[in-house]
Amino acid sequence: MHDKDYFFDIILTMTIINHIVQLFYKSLDFIYKKKCYFCNSSRECVRMCSKCYDELQHTDIRINRVLNQKPVYSAGVYEKNLQKMIRGIKYHRQKELGFYMAKFMYEYFSQVIAEENLPKDYQVVPVPLHPKRKRKRGYNHMEIVAKEFCELSGFELNTDLIKRVKSTKPQYKLSFSEKMKNMENAFKAEKNQDKNKPVLIIDDICTSGATFTSMITELQNNGITDIYCLSASSPE
Ligand SMILES: [Zn+2]
Repeated sequence: MHDKDYFFDIILTMTIINHIVQLFYKSLDFIYKKKCYFCNSSRECVRMCSKCYDELQHTDIRINRVLNQKPVYSAGVYEKNLQKMIRGIKYHRQKELGFYMAKFMYEYFSQVIAEENLPKDYQVVPVPLHPKRKRKRGYNHMEIVAKEFCELSGFELNTDLIKRVKSTKPQYKLSFSEKMKNMENAFKAEKNQDKNKPVLIIDDICTSGATFTSMITELQNNGITDIYCLSASSPE
């Protein structure tokens, strides 16, 4: 009987200790999340403080490149805090940075619309991940950015227009021709989608242009022709 009581006491004590430890970690997490991911300042209690955001630089308003006769616009150069932001959301689970990335992209694109006389409404299509890669990463970071982008712009989010059907190798290890080959037939457009509303494909970085080219080709083959591309960054 006494042994049983003793055993019960130990279980109870362990449970209480466990709760205390968990509370401790939760409060650490709370404090940690309130810090700026870039300069560590906790002054504004946000993940990116206004000083670090203001340091981001937009590129001039111009077409970055043309792929399959479609314009690609790029909001900034892949360096400094923009590079850290992209790597953070993509590889280090910093999902809260999605808002700042969307804001940075939309501030740029709304100027592009005005200066280049582009359509005023779009269906926004984040570059899809293959289901296997999405499962492994736990999320598609560009979907998070696209959602925030649509909140800011009032545009429509469309994650059903085109799917990734080929599990491709990471692009950065490949040569230019290997990249193009790797992305060939990587996407499949879905039937019964809106073919008339302009499509805005968004991605984090445009290097070889192989991803955008492959998506544009697949959409064009399915009768969708009003296409624009926007990347958060380009190498220069
Ligand atoms: Zn900061």
